[in-house]
Amino acid sequence: MIRGTRGCLPCLAPFSAASAPHQPHSRRSFQSGNMTSAQSQAKLSPSVAEAGDSLSSLPLFKPSLVIFDKDGTLVCFHTMWNSWCEQLASRMKEETTKEVSTELYSMLGYDQASKRVRMGMLAEKTHPYIMEKVVEMLMTEFKFNKEEATEVMDKTWKDTPENMQIKSTGNLGLLFKTLKEQDIKIAICTSDSREGTEEFLTKLGLESMVDLVLCGDDKDSISKPNPHNALFICEQLSVCPSKTIMVGDTPADTIMGQAANLGLTVGVLTGVGDNKDLSDADLIVPEVGDIIDLVTASEKSEMVPKVSKNMRITGRGLSKIVSQSSIDK
Ligand SMILES: [Mg+2]
Repeated sequence: MIRGTRGCLPCLAPFSAASAPHQPHSRRSFQSGNMTSAQSQAKLSPSVAEAGDSLSSLPLFKPSLVIFDKDGTLVCFHTMWNSWCEQLASRMKEETTKEVSTELYSMLGYDQASKRVRMGMLAEKTHPYIMEKVVEMLMTEFKFNKEEATEVMDKTWKDTPENMQIKSTGNLGLLFKTLKEQDIKIAICTSDSREGTEEFLTKLGLESMVDLVLCGDDKDSISKPNPHNALFICEQLSVCPSKTIMVGDTPADTIMGQAANLGLTVGVLTGVGDNKDLSDADLIVPEVGDIIDLVTASEKSEMVPKVSKNMRITGRGLSKIVSQSSIDK
């Protein structure tokens, strides 16, 4: 059984988006200036060039579904959550008369000095999970008993920032419209609450283009990187996992994509994760709008993904290409 097919034998292309440019008819979309295909590959990654002709026999990859993470992927994480962290610390101080910000920020992964959220609980975990950990922190660091700590949590927690600021990471309207034109379904899988997620979709006018939303506090949700949410979304939308792309900014997203054997797992650099953090992705792109290049057909009759020179194929992605190539031979 080819990895990622999960019984969906008609869609035998767990990963070939990056390889498609090696098809003769797709060279136009891949080449830059007078560069040959091999030269273009070398510019992307020396490893891709080394893989050489082994990539040329791979089938084209036409996705049927793209699952997006929200915070850090579709919206600027820092704009939205910095004020939320500081508001929560302020409410807790008011409620307890204790300065809890140092311990709270450390636990959440918020750097007050730089006003940046780094890799940590806030970037990766659901609100119910974080609330549980904040209660534990109040008990261990500030000697509240469980009842007192839970009461503080209940009185001070809010799922969304006051006066929520939403700054998108790109032209999401264009991105979603392009996907819909290609008959590709769109899902959002986020650790954020349903309240905050629906507010985001409403404010940006994107609701009508999204086929399914799964939030951290939904009863059907199991926290990333468990593959459950990705597989649940595929099942709900009747799409084979191997025809699905996962896009996210943290290891929780990329590990979930791989654990669910999705066709392609893409990391984006607009959130908290850097190239090293996103090494479990197959492909790393500067921002979510680059997904358009992966799904835009350059010829009417065929889906030919284009790999831009600013995309980076990871070691994991490369080994997936090579293993797929050897299966195909
Ligand atoms: Mg994220």
